[in-house]
Amino acid sequence: MRARFWELPLAALTREEWEALCDGCGRCCLHKFEDEDTGAIAETNVACRLLDCSTARCRDYTHRKAFVPDCLTLTLKLVDDIEWLPHTCAYRLRANDEPLPDWHYLISGDREAVVRAGVSVAGRVISETVAGPLEHHIVEWEDVE
Ligand code: SF4
Repeated sequence: MRARFWELPLAALTREEWEALCDGCGRCCLHKFEDEDTGAIAETNVACRLLDCSTARCRDYTHRKAFVPDCLTLTLKLVDDIEWLPHTCAYRLRANDEPLPDWHYLISGDREAVVRAGVSVAGRVISETVAGPLEHHIVEWEDVE
């Protein structure tokens, strides 16, 4: 990967650089509801079965599509289209030509800094395998600025 690749426009990133941009917050890996009438999105604290809820890391990222075919693959176009991406999401920030925050591991060199910054869902979510009805788990995730 190129030096300071995260300062390049998203469209210029290689596949490897694109993947490395994710801060690992885990918000992508939570179930959401879309209101059929209004299109409004409600978020939950229920995680995909593959997510390790204590670390907010996918337990089999490489093969995830085999287990969860509808797992989101973020693309340049989707970054603009998905309204629920948190303001802290590295893809959203860079799409807006904003810098990565100090706690991002590419800046801090520390993968745990996202947890200390209060951005990660680690330890704050429950797996879909034990959660029961999603309607009981609607939450509002605060976006840390
Ligand atoms: S919201 Fe953005 S930074 Fe967080 S896990 Fe999803 S893609 Fe990665």
